[in-house]
Amino acid sequence: MSECPRCKKKSINLGHVNLPIGKTRSKRVNVNECVDCKLVFYEESKE
Ligand SMILES: [Zn+2]
Repeated sequence: MSECPRCKKKSINLGHVNLPIGKTRSKRVNVNECVDCKLVFYEESKE
């Protein structure tokens, strides 16, 4: 799991979303939530 960019604690994965880039393209990213400060952040999917 990724660490939180704000407090560097553990995060949990909430699943994937496709972020639109322009009109036709989209990027698949992981959505993570920090267990400590509840920050929600995106992380680029490796796939
Ligand atoms: Zn945090």
